[in-house]
Amino acid sequence: DVYGEGRRNSAGLDLSTRADRFRLSAAVTVLDAAPLQSGPLVGGKMEAGGPPLPVVSPVDAGRVVGAVSEAQLPQIDKAFKLARAAQGAWDQAGGPARAKVLRAMGDALEANIERLIAILSREAGKTLADGIAEVREAVDFCRYYAVLAEKQFGEPEVLKGPVGETNTLGLAGRGVFVCISPWNFPLAIFTGQIAAALAAGNAVIAKPAEQTPIIAYEAVKLYHAAGLDPRLLALLPGRGETVGAALTAHEGLDGVAFTGGTDTAWRINQTLAQRQGPIVPFIAETGGLNGMFVDTTAQREQVIDDVIVSAFGSAGQRCSALRLLFLPTDTADHIIEGLKGAMDALVVADPANASTDVGPVIDADARDALEKHLARLKHEAKVLHALETPAGGTFFGPVLAEIPAADFLEREVFGPILHVVRYKPEDLEQVAGALAARRYGLTLGVHSRIQAFADDVVRLVPAGNAYVNRTMTGAVVGVQPFGGEGLSGTGPKAGGPHALLRFAVERALSVNI
Ligand code: GLU
Repeated sequence: DVYGEGRRNSAGLDLSTRADRFRLSAAVTVLDAAPLQSGPLVGGKMEAGGPPLPVVSPVDAGRVVGAVSEAQLPQIDKAFKLARAAQGAWDQAGGPARAKVLRAMGDALEANIERLIAILSREAGKTLADGIAEVREAVDFCRYYAVLAEKQFGEPEVLKGPVGETNTLGLAGRGVFVCISPWNFPLAIFTGQIAAALAAGNAVIAKPAEQTPIIAYEAVKLYHAAGLDPRLLALLPGRGETVGAALTAHEGLDGVAFTGGTDTAWRINQTLAQRQGPIVPFIAETGGLNGMFVDTTAQREQVIDDVIVSAFGSAGQRCSALRLLFLPTDTADHIIEGLKGAMDALVVADPANASTDVGPVIDADARDALEKHLARLKHEAKVLHALETPAGGTFFGPVLAEIPAADFLEREVFGPILHVVRYKPEDLEQVAGALAARRYGLTLGVHSRIQAFADDVVRLVPAGNAYVNRTMTGAVVGVQPFGGEGLSGTGPKAGGPHALLRFAVERALSVNI
């Protein structure tokens, strides 16, 4: 593994120890007592943006996590100007110098792990276990891209050519990247996009999801404290329709990295297509309509465990989450019974409790959309099992439903609703083909003890990340490079060896002396 030397993935915290649980609950208590702030952070200074708006916790509508002020045009222009001014020197400094800053950022994240998890839990409704995994992933992105920066952005590669001529190929940053990130990984994806763009020699204008500006503000502060010239990273919080639209239409940008919904990706792509200036790259990671295919040889207990984690972990709010479970008619009832029992054991509650399995969904809009979909399932399909929804925040009890076929789903349903489709083994080709025809291609699961079955499914349903006999969420940096194809995104994969290449330009130099 050429990219693994000298790098270890972050160890995080251990919820099974009383000391770590205590450190986390103390951090949550501190946070609850002192609400935080977020707003436009330009050149390292907080600027006055729009009027402060409360950031309300999904855990409890009465709990204010902090306040955010939305970025306005003057701050947007200023951020681009400062970024442009600082980018050349950063690019010239070379990969190894940039790697140092990224490693310092990884260490800074680790040093603040409890506080960051507390914010994730309050602002995004993350369980403590998900919070730990998320901080670890953010750290891993920094350290992994540091290695790539050193390997790929050090000395230019020498190529073969005629005698007397020196030919080299080097990589350089493109300029100013706009990074737009989602609320479901408001630290890991936020930090990771920025780390990739910076590693390649770019300056960054970051717009966090409207729901999670506070954790983003903390992350940007840590980047600056880690030694990054503050002009190289500005935070411009706000809504997609306003700030996002202004950023992607700005003439000062040289590329956009986006993770979020497919509809937004189309919109950004259109905006970029209308530019008259330089043609800029668009790196998009979007949704999925992710299936898992089980055959009759699959180990039932393992299927049940892995399905529960993949469909209901993180309240189903991962783009990698399992949405469509294909069960063979012969064993479907037996597996469904097991799933119902396992669902009953799930604790749906305040995510800051160490025993909680499923926290709230992100906001009232998300919950309303799930409720609407559930009403449709009741009318037009069959609800097999539904857990109670606790009162208070924007909770939604996990649901298991049976639908006739994959095309029942018009689009990705983002939350803890799992759809079962029964299939006859002789129809595998047609059933899998129908899923592939939807043109998503993010994650895929298989459970079988027959290699040929797994091979068939993987061939029939193209997906960026396929998982056989295990869970299908929680891709690990450097181990499962993550990202899809088709409606699910453009690549390159986050946490993979090619991640930085689209953030860079290639320059060939031929010298005769
Ligand atoms: N990388 C995450 C996973 O493997 C999903 C990222 C996302 O939801 O955007 O579960």
